[in-house]
Amino acid sequence: MKGVELNHKKILVTFLMHLGDLTLTTPFIRALREAAPDSHITMLVDEKLKDVVLHNPCLDEVITIDKHGRDNNILALLSCAHNLGVDMFDCVFPTRVARNGTAMTSRGRLVIRNAIYAEDFRPIDEHCNCYACRNYSRAYIRHLFKAEEIFGLRLLSVHNLHFLLDFTKKIRDAIEQDRFAEFRKAFWDQWEEKDERPEDLA
Ligand SMILES: [Zn+2]
Repeated sequence: MKGVELNHKKILVTFLMHLGDLTLTTPFIRALREAAPDSHITMLVDEKLKDVVLHNPCLDEVITIDKHGRDNNILALLSCAHNLGVDMFDCVFPTRVARNGTAMTSRGRLVIRNAIYAEDFRPIDEHCNCYACRNYSRAYIRHLFKAEEIFGLRLLSVHNLHFLLDFTKKIRDAIEQDRFAEFRKAFWDQWEEKDERPEDLA
């Protein structure tokens, strides 16, 4: 941990995986505490695993999320990040799902390999202004995937990254303008997978 000043900071550790990762996390947290004795160290963990870290003396705070339940969506995690004061994060999610043929849209997931898109000449998302949506149709991108042509993965990656950046900008604007609750409700109102809605909006 040399080269980065860790002391006198608010540090958030987000190992959200399973038991093996948490076991490996224990020595990491101890080393982090030694390097940053006066920092406030918070750990974000799936609530099913909280007992493993709850009494760790090297942590100041443990925050739990329901990773496979009510918090299993982008909006819940962003809301959680906002509440924690996180202003930067990074994830492989948008490009990984793109490589598997899934596009992120404001109405839900769009699995481009599905036969219903074979002659669908609309863009991936009609409300998106990305390079892929401005220039290519669902049918064409589906054809690229079926032909195992790597350009298809790139187009979906471009779209997903654009979508997520635009989506997080809208969330930031809503938070700044103190209308996040309305934004959240509007988001879920147009989401097509009705059984995925949070309980308070179902
Ligand atoms: Zn797009």
